[in-house]
Amino acid sequence: MKLFAGFEPIVKHDEPMASHTWFRIGGPARYFIEPRTVEELSEVARRCRENEIPMYVLGSGANLLVDDAGVKGAVIRLGEGQFTETTLVEGGVRAGAGVEMGKLVLRCVRDGLSGLECQTGIPGTVGGCVKMNAGGAFGDIGSVVEAVTVMSETGEVFSRHRTELAFAYRSTNITSKFILSAEFHLNEDAPERILKQIKQIWIYKKNTQPLTKRNAGCVFKNSRGMSAGALIDRAGLKGKRVGGAYVSRKHANFILADPGATAADVLKLINIIRQEVYKKSEVYLELEIEVW
Ligand SMILES: Cc1cc2nc3c(=O)[nH]c(=O)nc-3n(C[C@H](O)[C@H](O)[C@H](O)COP(=O)(O)OP(=O)(O)OC[C@H]3O[C@@H](n4cnc5c(N)ncnc54)[C@H](O)[C@@H]3O)c2cc1C
Repeated sequence: MKLFAGFEPIVKHDEPMASHTWFRIGGPARYFIEPRTVEELSEVARRCRENEIPMYVLGSGANLLVDDAGVKGAVIRLGEGQFTETTLVEGGVRAGAGVEMGKLVLRCVRDGLSGLECQTGIPGTVGGCVKMNAGGAFGDIGSVVEAVTVMSETGEVFSRHRTELAFAYRSTNITSKFILSAEFHLNEDAPERILKQIKQIWIYKKNTQPLTKRNAGCVFKNSRGMSAGALIDRAGLKGKRVGGAYVSRKHANFILADPGATAADVLKLINIIRQEVYKKSEVYLELEIEVW
């Protein structure tokens, strides 16, 4: 019997993950599934569970390094149908997990809603940004999350209000497998004023981050109040290269990938960075990116 019989339009086999990550790196996913509704997601998850197929939830792949050997499981992306809907609600906006954050930020400008400007220049989906509590110097997304709707691996759907949610540096207490949607509480403001703030953030990002090259944002978390980028710079590693992967000269916490770079190149470079930073500063850098 075919495992995903009846779901042919939404299931691909051996889909190259390089097509779905910002690094443009990664071997094939055994199953690549794009459910369009919560019911489809629930049924897909049930079949994965019953057949002991590990599930990986993908946003836009902006914080991921996928191994060259690929993913021996089901990569599930909530980027279609119901998961891409945006609705204005009292005091803010509700958006499906698959909505692109950049588009949501611009929609909020048009509707005169302020609060998501801190997401400017951060590639990702609503699901990925909430899961990672994406943000930085201009604020984190967690501060405007009003509620999330989630689904557990076993298919239960429920909502969590902000009083039950905790957001910390690049993490949340959301442990349910799937974030289905999020509601953000936003303030009314003049579109021109919101846009001005967005433009300022863009200029800052363009000046400090290598946004046009293949990468996955900051590779390591800052540690004990110290900037990981500064520690890497201090270890003399700007420009350090392994195969097709190298440390950005603009921002030392970014690893950039030339066409043809492999996950093995990036992983070797990560190990070298960790060793050298430890030798120089006695700090063991923790990964911010996720490795599949
Ligand atoms: C150029 C560049 C600049 C960046 N700048 C920043 C920055 O300034 N600040 C910052 O915080 N990050 C930054 N990042 C990292 C990245 O943009 C964020 O981590 C973003 O939140 C990733 O979203 P995504 O949808 O791509 O998630 P993915 O990378 O696809 O996934 C990230 C994690 O979220 C999980 N996930 C994704 N969707 C869901 C869902 N629906 N339900 C449950 N789990 C889910 C995945 O399983 C994975 O664990 C940058 C990345 C790049 C490439």
